[in-house]
Amino acid sequence: MNTRPSKIVCVGRSYADHAKELGNAVPDRPVLFIKPPSTLIGLDDGISWNKALGSCHYECELCLRIDAPLSHETDPQKALQAIGAVTLGLDLTLRDLQTELKNKGQPWERAKAFDRSCMLADWVDPSEIEDWQQAKYSFEVNGEIRQQGDTAFLLFSIAELLCDMSQAFSLEAGDVVMTGTPAGVGALHSGDELTLTLKGKSQDFIWITFVKAD
Ligand code: ZN
Repeated sequence: MNTRPSKIVCVGRSYADHAKELGNAVPDRPVLFIKPPSTLIGLDDGISWNKALGSCHYECELCLRIDAPLSHETDPQKALQAIGAVTLGLDLTLRDLQTELKNKGQPWERAKAFDRSCMLADWVDPSEIEDWQQAKYSFEVNGEIRQQGDTAFLLFSIAELLCDMSQAFSLEAGDVVMTGTPAGVGALHSGDELTLTLKGKSQDFIWITFVKAD
């Protein structure tokens, strides 16, 4: 299934160590926001943003494609069964602008839902993840490890996240969920080479993308 999603539902502050590094309180329920489908880019497109708006941070996240509709779901098993594919993605964030918006109490969309702000790698069969409570991935910039993700450290499990968001937003077939970022976020620079690695059952899935040169 490669139809355009109706939306990309994202989780903020889903790992305690990342909430702390940005000086945010650990939430008592998931922090959710949405990116529209116009944000999507692929590995080959390259990352770019309007430099006049300040820094652009990477946030490497485990991403899920929902292939069966989920609405007001309360059964964790049914929520997990709706996952049709898995990959890694980058929730690209204009951090200076986001900080300004947060300080003013304004919505984050200008910093989180701008064109080209959602890079997704290739979809992988979900059977590659043996245990949704122990999915592991990593992210490198120019060959240096910057982020290491392990869903064991999520404040809310994948199943809990899916059930919770489906109370607020009906997930339609093809919709994408970004499950939030671990600690280690940082600014991107022109020409950076970015490596995303997802630990699968049969192999490690390794994808490379890049920041466009000025
Ligand atoms: Zn994020």
